[in-house]
Amino acid sequence: MATDMAAPRQMVLADLKGKVDPDWCPGCGDFGVLAAVQKALVDLQIPNHRVCTISGIGCSSNFPGFINTYGMHTLHGRSLPVATGVKLANHELTVLVTGGDGDGFGIGVGHFVHAMRRNVDLLYIVMDNQIYGLTTGQTSPTSRLGMKTKSMPFGNIETPINPITLALSSGATFVARGFSGEQKHLTELIKQGIQHKGFSFLDVFSPCVTYNHDNTYQWFRPRVKKLEDDAAYDATDWAAAVERSLLWGEEIPIGKFFERTDVPALHAAEPVLNAGPLVEGITRIPPDVVQSFIDELT
Ligand code: SF4
Repeated sequence: MATDMAAPRQMVLADLKGKVDPDWCPGCGDFGVLAAVQKALVDLQIPNHRVCTISGIGCSSNFPGFINTYGMHTLHGRSLPVATGVKLANHELTVLVTGGDGDGFGIGVGHFVHAMRRNVDLLYIVMDNQIYGLTTGQTSPTSRLGMKTKSMPFGNIETPINPITLALSSGATFVARGFSGEQKHLTELIKQGIQHKGFSFLDVFSPCVTYNHDNTYQWFRPRVKKLEDDAAYDATDWAAAVERSLLWGEEIPIGKFFERTDVPALHAAEPVLNAGPLVEGITRIPPDVVQSFIDELT
């Protein structure tokens, strides 16, 4: 049947350019992550008004300001509770959470574990540079043993967190690792993480070129090996994923470690939300009732 309705315009990369240009140091790995997220959203044709990007504090947590979606730059380590609220208020939004290893695995590690066991439907991207960059180079929860930093000038004496093993043991239903020096591969992982129904965790090696002179692009390049290149690897096998997550050294796996699709996301398991997103219910409250609440509170 003929129609005079215009076809919806295709979203292009320019639609996702933020109003502010990134102020990251030239060469920072976070540029590669931003480009990969923008490309993934264009490839999936998810309109930017259907996306909300939430962050904590740190160099990488400035991310929501550099992309044209809804977003919020929250408190240090608190991005996941805010993102959980966003998802429960409107579970039809694509929720992206962006931050660094200090934010996510230091102050925010408790929220990280609970968001995974709750299977909140969002994609959590950690730009993991193994150092605190914004505060100019202190030891982070993923800094290697012996690494010399401003806060540990004689070398790190604390065993680093293994984010992949932690995610697997906390119940994350999608667990992957990328490298900002592998753009196409990273973009594919982001697309898979967005499409997964449940908590998707993506740890990204995103070198800090200013303060981490150990974990550089040159250090990672010969070591990273894609799990997808191993035809025998089965990403539905949790025990195999744990085994691969422990590999570190001359060979470091990147790619999808694990995915399971038989666990309902938090909003799908919550009976109140079965009738539809909460925000739609809120809009059905008559304006005079809303106003009376506001008057009571002001
Ligand atoms: Fe990136 Fe490091 Fe510069 Fe921060 S200090 S913007 S993490 S290179």
